[in-house]
Amino acid sequence: MFRSSLGLALVLGSVFAAAGCGGGGPPAFEGRGPIQVVCTTTLAADLVSRVGGDRVEVDTLMGPGVDPHRYLPTAGDRARLDAAHLVVFNGLHLEGKMTDVFEKGRDRYRAFAVTRDLDPASLRPAEVDGGEHDPHVWFDVALWAKTIPVVRDELTKLDPAGAEVYARNADAYAKELAALDAEVRAEVGKLPPARRVLVTSHDAFGYFGRAYGFEVHGLQGVSTASETGTQDRQRLARLLGQKKIPAVFTETSVPDDGLKAVLDTAYKDFGQKVTLVGGDDALYSDALGPPGSPGATYPGMIRHNVAVIVNALGK
Ligand SMILES: [Zn+2]
Repeated sequence: MFRSSLGLALVLGSVFAAAGCGGGGPPAFEGRGPIQVVCTTTLAADLVSRVGGDRVEVDTLMGPGVDPHRYLPTAGDRARLDAAHLVVFNGLHLEGKMTDVFEKGRDRYRAFAVTRDLDPASLRPAEVDGGEHDPHVWFDVALWAKTIPVVRDELTKLDPAGAEVYARNADAYAKELAALDAEVRAEVGKLPPARRVLVTSHDAFGYFGRAYGFEVHGLQGVSTASETGTQDRQRLARLLGQKKIPAVFTETSVPDDGLKAVLDTAYKDFGQKVTLVGGDDALYSDALGPPGSPGATYPGMIRHNVAVIVNALGK
């Protein structure tokens, strides 16, 4: 804990010392060449790429499999952020250690959160690294689709010549996500409601549960920065035994040792044998997969997760 706090202070101290001190602000976009966009997460990057098409060039700070809750900006990130015409982040305190950077760096960066215009009434309450809403909104496909307009509008504001392109891409992507939402409902419909209990490393799947009728449990809280102890593992192991849950799921961006300990307890204390679904079947939670993997895009991530979940819980 101490080490990470100290590291944060040192890194932020050196990397962002000039923030808010009249550093000149972001470079002007003069309509020549693509808009240089820096995104925090792969999910934000995927969204901006879909709406921006060839008119944007997207650089992502947190790569595939990187946990955004614990991510600390590196010295090299400074140059990338400074060079960006536009900085796009998830918001709702997903980027636990970076949220302040954007909130305090208003003059330095042209930055916005893709979740900025979501109706607070549509958000799940949660305590997370200083925020009061669950930031994992992409797990409700219809809710994630509502982040498309803010991206379209911000790109259009910066690059009015691309207005038609952005509007067309945004409409097409919204239609694609509406179809994806229906596809998820049809797939999940293959599971009897009693089997829809999803247990994962951390509480990333609350919106998924709300949208598609799953009871959801995570070993850790909504942020991976929360600690877990023996009591958390006992509580989860008891639940697995009581509900006779056949499988729990690892996530590509979170270590799985905690879940392994839960499964040992579930077997020893409650006689329940539980499969740990991982490896190539690990769920994509807070980050997309590398290029070429099933989770390289947002629709691919959702399809992979749903197929793995329906298969493992339907046995
Ligand atoms: Zn998370």
